[in-house]
Amino acid sequence: MEKKKIVVVGSSNMDMVVKTNHIPVPGETVLSGSFFMNPGGKGANQAVAIARLGGEVSFISKMGNDVFGKQFIQLFSDEGIDTRYILSDEELPSGVALITVDDAGENSIVVASGANSNLLVKDLDGARDAISKAAILLVQLEIPMDTVTAAVQFAHQNGVKVILNPAPANVLSQELLEAVYILTPNKTEASMISGITVTDLASAEEAAKRICSKGAKNVVVTMGALGAVICENGACSLVPTRKVETIDTTAAGDVFNGALAVAVSENKSLKEAVDFACGGAAISVTRMGAQASIPYRTELIAQEL
Ligand code: ADP
Repeated sequence: MEKKKIVVVGSSNMDMVVKTNHIPVPGETVLSGSFFMNPGGKGANQAVAIARLGGEVSFISKMGNDVFGKQFIQLFSDEGIDTRYILSDEELPSGVALITVDDAGENSIVVASGANSNLLVKDLDGARDAISKAAILLVQLEIPMDTVTAAVQFAHQNGVKVILNPAPANVLSQELLEAVYILTPNKTEASMISGITVTDLASAEEAAKRICSKGAKNVVVTMGALGAVICENGACSLVPTRKVETIDTTAAGDVFNGALAVAVSENKSLKEAVDFACGGAAISVTRMGAQASIPYRTELIAQEL
């Protein structure tokens, strides 16, 4: 039987957003603004993107034994995500991000990782069977690096293709890179991992080649409104994205990664898969919000994106 399943190991956060006319300085209280709560976290966003885009997905994540944790699990199962491997932490609360956005669109963000920081290597044990039977493992860096490394290496040893989205930016060990099938940094992350400052297509190619030489099999550097530079077997090229009216780029990278995983699970070539990912991400930037902006497969088909 052909393997199609995608396993995501990663974070869940509740984004608590206050809109205000200005961001308070230390000691100041600002009385203004409206309040929104949006489920987020890179792991959760990418799992939702996979489900909406037609992938079969299991999500491994840890949340608090609190009201947010319960809401997340309900929401994920409503999306069609397999929640069997979601863990509850008895001590730490669910992860939250406290976000203030002012009238000019500037923001200030504080993240309390909570239970995400306690997703440990031993927590993978109950899900090893699911990982080893998957086609793809998709991971980001909002959980402890030891857990990322253990999951990636276990998947690689079992012939599972690993897509690592190295966000937020961090340095990566050679042992980790050598187990990665596709690494998907944005410009900032590619600069940190390669040591080459990525500003344009030429420097993106240079950085991607350097990262391939450190062990990653394929590298896809996302370049915002330009699309993505792909590098496979030492050869680089640009996959352009669609020209769209940009409203809010929050979670564009998450939609890109989720869509990429779906397309790779369907055995599309790297170029075709990145093109599909660009189509999905382009729809998401035309809408406000993180999970609210994630498109469904039918929308991609309807727009021929
Ligand atoms: P991140 O959001 O992680 O920093 P990017 O800004 O590179 O990553 O965006 C990820 C992908 O989303 C891009 O490769 C592209 O396909 C798509 N994208 C981002 N911004 C735009 C935009 N303004 N117009 C169209 N597509 C975009």
